[in-house]
Amino acid sequence: MGNLFVKLKKLILLNLTAYCIVSSSFLFAKNLPDESAVPGGVVIIPLGDVNLNKPKATFNKNQVMVTDHKKQWVAVVGIPLSSKPGEHYLVTANKKHRFTIKDKAYETQRLTIKNKRKVNPNKTDMERINKERPIIRQALRHWNETNDIFLEFIAPVEGRKSSSFGLRRIFNDQPRRPHSGMDIAAPAGAKVIAPAKGKVIETGDFFFNGKSVFIDHGQGLITMYCHLDSISVEPGQTMNTGDKVGEVGMTGRVTGPHLHWTVSLNNARVDPQLFLTGSD
Ligand SMILES: [Zn+2]
Repeated sequence: MGNLFVKLKKLILLNLTAYCIVSSSFLFAKNLPDESAVPGGVVIIPLGDVNLNKPKATFNKNQVMVTDHKKQWVAVVGIPLSSKPGEHYLVTANKKHRFTIKDKAYETQRLTIKNKRKVNPNKTDMERINKERPIIRQALRHWNETNDIFLEFIAPVEGRKSSSFGLRRIFNDQPRRPHSGMDIAAPAGAKVIAPAKGKVIETGDFFFNGKSVFIDHGQGLITMYCHLDSISVEPGQTMNTGDKVGEVGMTGRVTGPHLHWTVSLNNARVDPQLFLTGSD
């Protein structure tokens, strides 16, 4: 009997310890994205004491997010999918900070698109695409200098998250650029929400991306929602976490209804999974 009591006591203590670990990790949840030093990943580079002036940092000539973390300035660097493995440099006023990118073998995905013009656009389509490209590019390069940044995202829609980021894509047997976002399977009409606070900087109906919304979260962190059935917001609108962005649809180049979600950091498309809470 006594033995059983000791066992029970141990069990309770163990559970209490487990509870404390869980609750403390909840209280001190990460406030940086997960680090992944690969093409399409995010690298965190310490830049010194927060009592010193906030440094300005660039990578590939793009300004990079610098935020305070555990009394240090840190650069949160998005690594483009096109980056070569090997040594790279983050540049600040007085230093080049060397870091290494490892190789990552993204798999190949073959897709069949029924609307052939979405794979081989005609002349009229090309004129439209050429008009849309600078609008998309400008939105993804948007820079809003603010220290009020929030780097933990909730999922923008309920549904199965595919691990499709970075896949080398072949549409109707023709190679195209790698998949630069995460696809989340959801029925048409499902509510798409803002994963963190931010400001709507652009909306539109684009040839490939369909009806799309761009949200700026500060310091070069932009999220994009594509193939929407309807858009519920307007440029200039302030968003809080959970505010409705629009509804899932199948506009643009799609094989069926889903949300395509892009996360862009210093103009590099990175794996949205790295920003989702509970992803580690
Ligand atoms: Zn997609």
